[in-house]
Order: sequence, then structure tokens, then C-alpha cells
Amino acid sequence: MERSFMKIHLRQIPQGGSLHVEGVEDADFLELEEADAHACSPLEYELDVGLSGGGLFATGRLSVCVRLRCVACLDEFETTLSVDRFALQKELDGRESVDLTEEVREDIHLALPAHPRCDAEGKKTCPARFSQASGDASQSPGDAPWGVLDGLKTEKRQK
Ligand SMILES: [Zn+2]
Repeated sequence: MERSFMKIHLRQIPQGGSLHVEGVEDADFLELEEADAHACSPLEYELDVGLSGGGLFATGRLSVCVRLRCVACLDEFETTLSVDRFALQKELDGRESVDLTEEVREDIHLALPAHPRCDAEGKKTCPARFSQASGDASQSPGDAPWGVLDGLKTEKRQK
């Protein structure tokens, strides 16, 4: 069954003005599982929809709580994904209503971090933080001693 998240009926939009729509919608239609994420709240939306030059525009914000897996420690954590400047323009194809499902889903997916980190918001310390940092130089062992020497030189100069 094709799920339609939000249909805007053009007749609802006042001439020369905009229609304010807001509410919550079950987050299933976002298909977050594709991105290895899980919604932990419904999607909240608040949009202003208007018509101009034969097209439809919508601006507003979207937010949903998602559970992601940290790339460093592999623990799951919850974070709020929000799109504060959602904006879209659509050409009108003669239909009486416009469906914003695709655009909303796309923007939420774009807001997903490519490399989720459980400490991204600074609320907690990722347990894998230290092993990550020290693993940095080990890639090219030849370069590492120079880094250490440079550090020593700087220290001496400062004294
Ligand atoms: Zn982590």
C-alpha cells in the first residue's frame, strides 16, 4: 500500500497567502531502516504552504527522534533529527492536491549524520574516544616519530 504522508489540497491555500499546516505523523513512511536508523518518535512538522508562479512552495521545519548506532563504540543512542529550514518548490501538474511525502523523506535522510557519533551532542563521552585518537598515527609508523620530535622541539622552545 502506498503511504501518503501529507497531501495539500490546493483549494485550501488562500489566494496570495499561505496555508499553515502542522502536526505529527507516524514515522514509518520515512523508511529510516534503509539508513540503519530507527525512529523513536513520530515526525513533527510545521509548514507554510503557498502558491506562486504556477508552482507550490513550502517552508518550515521537521523533527523526529531517531536511534542511531555510533560508528566508534557501536552503541545505540538517541538523537533528535531536525530540519529547521525545510524548503521545497514543486511544479503543479494540474492535480488538485500535492503530495509532499517524497521531499520530506529525502530531507530527513539528508539530515542523518553519515558517521553518527554518540558524543556528537556533547551529552556523553563516547567510550571509544581514546582508542580512536591513538589509532590515528599508527597508519604510517614512519611519520609518527617525527611528530613526537616536533612536539619535543616546541616544548624546548617554549622553555
Ligand atoms: Zn560512541
